[in-house]
Amino acid sequence: LNAFTGHLSAILAVASKNAAAVDQTGCFPNETLSALRQARLLGSMVPRTMGGDGVSLSAAMETCQALGACCGASGMILAMHQIQIACLVSHAQHHPWHQALLRRIAGEQLLLASVTSEATTGGNLRTSDCAPVLDGERFRISKEAPTVSYASKADVLLVTARRAEDAPRSDQRLIAVLREDAQVEVVGEWDTLGMRGTCSHAVSLRAEGLNCQILEEEFGEIAERTMVPVSHLLWGAVWTGIAGDAEARARAWLRRSMRQNGSTSHPAAYHLTEMSGLLRTMRARLHDATACFEAARGAPEGSPAQAADTNLLKVDLSEAALRVALLAMRVCGMAGYRNGTEFSVGRHLRDLQSAPLMIHNDRIAADTATLLVAQRSAFPRG
Ligand SMILES: Cc1cc2nc3c(=O)[nH]c(=O)nc-3n(C[C@H](O)[C@H](O)[C@H](O)COP(=O)(O)OP(=O)(O)OC[C@H]3O[C@@H](n4cnc5c(N)ncnc54)[C@H](O)[C@@H]3O)c2cc1C
Repeated sequence: LNAFTGHLSAILAVASKNAAAVDQTGCFPNETLSALRQARLLGSMVPRTMGGDGVSLSAAMETCQALGACCGASGMILAMHQIQIACLVSHAQHHPWHQALLRRIAGEQLLLASVTSEATTGGNLRTSDCAPVLDGERFRISKEAPTVSYASKADVLLVTARRAEDAPRSDQRLIAVLREDAQVEVVGEWDTLGMRGTCSHAVSLRAEGLNCQILEEEFGEIAERTMVPVSHLLWGAVWTGIAGDAEARARAWLRRSMRQNGSTSHPAAYHLTEMSGLLRTMRARLHDATACFEAARGAPEGSPAQAADTNLLKVDLSEAALRVALLAMRVCGMAGYRNGTEFSVGRHLRDLQSAPLMIHNDRIAADTATLLVAQRSAFPRG
């Protein structure tokens, strides 16, 4: 066992214990984050040479899946943090400022958040209106962001912006902003159906820093090579964890019901076949997609086929996870519908409603359709 998995059961116990309260009150899962920090898991994906554990993406996915099964919001927070780490490691680790930041993340267990969405551009990741104002060696930036998870708890924010004030909206850069150099004003409520503990408020961000905090590589490249595929894999792992727990509750309910009735069958048990089939497909898709992502890492450029695959993964997993939770509710009936029972799946169902919206499936499907139309058949046509 490495540091990443060694403390996992203790962390999962904390997350499970607090999940219902986090959901009911919409408060940040402070206890779970403390447990993650204590186990030094916030630096787990930072390379060993910079003080982290250098764990693989698949190991990070396993942890997010396990945490998501206990508390969807906590799993999603860890996933979002790891996505930002992956971007820094893949696109900025050789830059002295970002290298020092990665060392700090591992050493001080800093929490990273993402500020990609913008009031004027919605969920279009590849468009920004805000831009850094350069002044000598320094920049300052303002961004109106409609949804930023745990903005007031984060130590570092990765912010997308136009390269410069006169750059087109699609010519973007990613900027690492330190919390101590930023004013984060919460301007909107986060009173949502699910994922309540992510505290994804609308914020008005004002920040400044050194120009070298702006990653040199074009954001389009970072998004395509790392942010989008890693997001889809880590989000997918969290959703699979939530769906897996809903299925486990349904199985437990069926076992109890059959025991109580002294029966070896139950009319709702057939739902388990669909749920188990969906979960197996989800896990297999995640496994294959991770292998493809790792294999493509060294390639000089990404391919449209890969981009389509990673998009389809997100759309399919988000819908499948929801279906599993819905079926779990059907199986458990009132025991699942009611909060506070060992078979409750309301939180699972509500948390998973965010999955198709988190970068809207309609938007992703439209982009994917364009990529798919351009694809050639693998076989000669007659
Ligand atoms: C739990 C959670 C946490 C989040 N955390 C963060 C965070 O930390 N940082 C961050 O920046 N953002 C975060 N987001 C926001 C998220 O990533 C998206 O930006 C956001 O969900 C998009 O919001 P939207 O649906 O209002 O906008 P849009 O994506 O603009 O969609 C609005 C509507 O337009 C339609 N639409 C838009 N484009 C198309 C298209 N091409 N084809 C068809 N229909 C289209 C959609 O159907 C949708 O109904 C989070 C979201 C959730 C749910």
